[in-house]
Amino acid sequence: MSVPPPKPIVLTFEDARRAVEEQAALIRANNVRPLRAESVDLLAAAGRVLAEPVLADRDIPPFPRSTRDGYAVRSADLSELPATLEMIGEIKAGEKLDRIPPAIGSRQTVAIMTGAPVPTGPDAVVMVEYTSQRGKQVEITRAVAPGENIVPRGAEARAGTTLLDRGLRLNEAAIALAASVGKSRLQVYARHRVAVLTTGDEIVDIDATPGPTQIRNSNSYSLAAQIRRAGGEPVLLPVAPDELQRLRRLIEEGLNSDLLLMTGGVSMGRYDLVEQALSEMNADFFFTGAKIQPGRPVVFGKCGAGTPFDKLRAGSARDGVSTPRARTYFFGLPGNPVSTMVTFELFARPMLEALAGESPRKLIFLHARLKKEIRVKTGLKRFLPAILSGEFEHSEVELVAWQGSGDIAAIARANCYIVIPPDRECIAAGEWVAVMMR
Ligand code: AMP
Ligand code: MG
Repeated sequence: MSVPPPKPIVLTFEDARRAVEEQAALIRANNVRPLRAESVDLLAAAGRVLAEPVLADRDIPPFPRSTRDGYAVRSADLSELPATLEMIGEIKAGEKLDRIPPAIGSRQTVAIMTGAPVPTGPDAVVMVEYTSQRGKQVEITRAVAPGENIVPRGAEARAGTTLLDRGLRLNEAAIALAASVGKSRLQVYARHRVAVLTTGDEIVDIDATPGPTQIRNSNSYSLAAQIRRAGGEPVLLPVAPDELQRLRRLIEEGLNSDLLLMTGGVSMGRYDLVEQALSEMNADFFFTGAKIQPGRPVVFGKCGAGTPFDKLRAGSARDGVSTPRARTYFFGLPGNPVSTMVTFELFARPMLEALAGESPRKLIFLHARLKKEIRVKTGLKRFLPAILSGEFEHSEVELVAWQGSGDIAAIARANCYIVIPPDRECIAAGEWVAVMMR
């Protein structure tokens, strides 16, 4: 069989990223890989994607809450200062209702603690710092606006309103919010399977002793770590040699997962056979390269037997075992270890997030001052391993010394990437540069 390799489709970084985001949107809209929910302990839910809305079980706060230690007052009583009020009680956080004075009149006050319920009558709390108490007399030296230092009942959320939406990746704040409404377990989406296929005659397993010209497989492990972090379950396939038949068989195996990530074999070399193999398998390619460095030969497409998206909807609603599958998306990531890691972050991650049921989010870049001048050739958008450092708000960033995109030791020292636009040749020390965190 002689099928030509695919016609090259080389996109700018932005266009390639958009192509991925479009396919990720299709996954979400068409339920391409139906999501399965599972119930997990609240703590095990951190980092996972929420599969149920979380509602307020009561008004938050459930009572008008004092945000300060001080005295609850009628703000109108403080029109002339200093003002002296009569203290008729004390309310601490968690005070039982029957111990709270039923009515607090004009020119009266109660001592109140942070987190305690404000009784009927007062409309503000004066901080203790602006008061002095002698017996039952409290002298106040500072006025307050109506409502000051009180959060009204239900001001943060009304009972029954949605606090957290489906599709949210749960960080510590979301976990705290779920805890605050008594959710000890949460429904999260099950991890989807992401196949990892490394190619190359020179690659050996990490348990094997490499021959003098062989190297150990590190890409499968960096990818597995990135997949786990993005909410997927990595499925490591055996290393594929640079030989079409065996490569095709392993690609076929990988296409049974929800997504296939391959590394190596996508450059211009005589033994870079991944695109050839995929072409023979009737794959569709969205792109076969991006104008970036590292990672220029990155490939994105769809392959395998499958059902068009519009037919899938009906199928997944049937909920049967024989639910039709869509063609499987794949990435061919360049084999150089730094290229593999960068192209995963730039392109594969949004697809994993869509498969995980997560709502779309944009790439985020920070800015920092460049410590040392950078000179590069124009034409490619660069994502270069770098170290972000500095004290407090004075961040500065510099490239790590590296031997190119095969240098794993260099990227292990880096904590970010400096992003250089394709039209810049020289960036001077002291300039602001965009930084992508790892
Ligand atoms: P390739 O993209 O196949 O041309 O590979 C580019 C470079 O990355 C070569 O030096 C390979 O030896 C290296 N490489 C490919 N796959 C891996 C891997 N799984 N682990 C470590 N290095 C790799
Ligand atoms: Mg290779």
